[in-house]
Amino acid sequence: MSASTPPSPLVLARDLRKTYVLGDTTLNALDGVSVTVERGEFVAIMGPSGSGKSTLMNVLGCLDRPTSGSYVLDGNEVSRLSRGELADVRNKTIGFVFQSFNLLARTSAVENVELPLVYAGVSRRERRERSARALERVGLGARLDHTPSQLSGGQQQRVAIARAIVNDPKIVFADEPTGNLDTKTSVEVMRLFQELWRGGLTIVFVTHEPDVALYSSRVIVVRDGKIVSDLRQDPKVAELAA
Ligand code: ADP
Repeated sequence: MSASTPPSPLVLARDLRKTYVLGDTTLNALDGVSVTVERGEFVAIMGPSGSGKSTLMNVLGCLDRPTSGSYVLDGNEVSRLSRGELADVRNKTIGFVFQSFNLLARTSAVENVELPLVYAGVSRRERRERSARALERVGLGARLDHTPSQLSGGQQQRVAIARAIVNDPKIVFADEPTGNLDTKTSVEVMRLFQELWRGGLTIVFVTHEPDVALYSSRVIVVRDGKIVSDLRQDPKVAELAA
């Protein structure tokens, strides 16, 4: 390939379908979704409950396979990979943030953040260094040894974000990342996501809060397993309350 070949989009999904068979009815949780996400985008996925947001996130995040359709992630077709191969893709390419933080209790922040590096076979010393650096990036350099119960909800979500970026992923998927946080803390978390995005990270998150979607650079609305709207916008700057 010549140096002038433009890089492929990070996410190139075509006609994704996910069908559940329940007795003698079939349910199309994804009903022909095509979406492209370029490197450096900050995308919010919105839609009513049951519209297919989580199903779409799970397929794009390589946690689940579509029933049919094509999904090229970072230049590789991943829609037909085995579960083990998908796990490899996740470890190398993707970071995850969840609504409920999903941190190990009674385990320090630095050890929680190290976990993806344990799976990647990184040495103990390098793990500790990279984990401490990731926690510094999210503003928790002084809390390395705190356990989740010693941290506020916003701080726990920061630890989870540090864990999501410690492996230098190409893309971070976040499922309702502010769903368990109050308004002020939600803005702080969105501010952190904006910082990471401005630093070059591609981020896709699900939210049902229009106020939170304003901080993204693009809003995709899903309904009945289909994309019904997809608009780019100037992101609102997340500013901390005085
Ligand atoms: P959302 O995240 O927007 O609330 P989901 O993606 O969770 O929506 O669900 C979309 C549709 O697929 C819903 O009707 C849901 O009940 C159905 N669904 C999701 N997962 C399963 C499953 N494992 N088995 C059967 N139906 C499912």
